[in-house]
This record gives sequence, structure tokens and C-alpha cells, in this order.
Amino acid sequence: MNMARQYVTEAILLAVRDSAHADRMVTLFSREHGKFQAIAHGARQPKSRLGGCLQPFASIRAAIAGTTGVETITQCEIINSFRELRDDITLLSYAAFLSELVSELWPERQPDEFVYDMLLTAYHTLPHRNPRITALASGWQLVALAGFHPEYSVCVNCGRALDQSAGFSCDQGGCICHYCQQEPLPEFGLPAGELMDKLLKLDWQQPDSFSVNSRTLLQLENILYSYLEYHLGKPLKSLSFIKQLARSSVMDKASQSGDNKG
Ligand SMILES: [Zn+2]
Repeated sequence: MNMARQYVTEAILLAVRDSAHADRMVTLFSREHGKFQAIAHGARQPKSRLGGCLQPFASIRAAIAGTTGVETITQCEIINSFRELRDDITLLSYAAFLSELVSELWPERQPDEFVYDMLLTAYHTLPHRNPRITALASGWQLVALAGFHPEYSVCVNCGRALDQSAGFSCDQGGCICHYCQQEPLPEFGLPAGELMDKLLKLDWQQPDSFSVNSRTLLQLENILYSYLEYHLGKPLKSLSFIKQLARSSVMDKASQSGDNKG
């Protein structure tokens, strides 16, 4: 039986959208309660106190009331607005990608403090480091935490150590060596393996600075997007814009040095 209850929780706003009657519907990722949706009555009215707090990516402390499934936000205060992420189109795109990734991969009501902190760290890091590499590292780390850790050191089919360019199989969750590959697969070169290792082991407290070849970066991005699409059964909505950004960025960088600084 669903009991009406009230509680206060710390949460990240994964998504905010308009709802009927000047309300807003928000998807929260709560540190204590995991992902759930709640309605903020009247949040679109000009004088609403809630409205100003309920911005995508912001972390808030919210008072929640109601029964599971029909909960409302009755009060909230901002812990960190992450306004920079909404003011810059590149940062906004990558932040939206990471929010959508968590929203799609984590089931309702499954709290995960480690993932919560990782998402906060990514939001903090995006404006200060190369956002493309930050999003790629966070994206792969989140995918691994969701249970889809990619195999990139040995062939998933024969177990042979990968000593030359391989292919990546989304349904087998890793690399297929040159000898086992029966069908064309997205290329996973040796530099991709080295970069994947760096990204998955990146220490967010003291991230190393590294240069990344644009071709390798693009390989790991495209494989991440395909891998997500394979597991979700649909592409992420935030991707169409990111792919455009990536294409224009690659062209910019190619005309400069060909390298991306991490
Ligand atoms: Zn093999």
C-alpha cells in the first residue's frame, strides 16, 4: 500500500519540463531515493518560489510530499545551480547527454550515491576541462557502473590479447579480434584501447592532462553512442545535437593541430 509521506532529500534535476496548469514535471535523481518524477504545482507562475530553483542540472534540497508515483515538490532550495552549464550551448549539450544517460540507465527508486557524486563531479568538471573528453570519460564510466563494462584488452570471442586493430561488438560488449571478426564492426584501434583505459581509470580529483587524437576520440564516442543505443533500444535524444558539435569540433581542431587536450 502506498502511504502518503513527507521527506526532504538532496537531488539533481535530470530533466525539467512544462506540465498543465502552469506546473512543471521534473525528473529527480535523489541521493537517498534514486530516480523519480515529481510535480511542482504552479512553478511556471511568475511569482513561484519553486520555479527559480527548478532548472536542469541544478542540485537542490527539496521537500517532497505525496504517495509514490504522484509526488509533489512543496519547497526547494538550490545547493548548486550549475548555471554555466545552461549558458553555453556546448556545455549544455554534454550535460544533457550525461543527465539523459543516467535517467535512461538507472531504474526508478534505486539510490546510488557513487553515481550521484560522479554526476555532480562531471557537472563541476565540464566548464573547466575539455567538455568533450569529460563527457566521454563520464559516459564510459557510467556505462561501466550500469553493468556494461566494455572488454577492450582481450578478444571477447577467443580471449587473445589485442595487439592490433579490432572491431567493437555491442551485443558481445567488447572487442573482437582481427581473426574472429566475421562481419564488419566499428573499428577499435590500439590507441582506442589506450584511451579507453585512461578514461575508465580517470581520477577526477587529480585528472591527468593528456592529448587525444581526434580520430581515436571519434571512435570511442561513436562506439559509446552505439553501445547505449543497443542497450536502450533507442538513441539518446541529446545525441543528435552532440554529433553535430563533434563534427564541427573535429573540423576546427583538424584545421589547427589535430589534437584535443584533455
Ligand atoms: Zn578473437
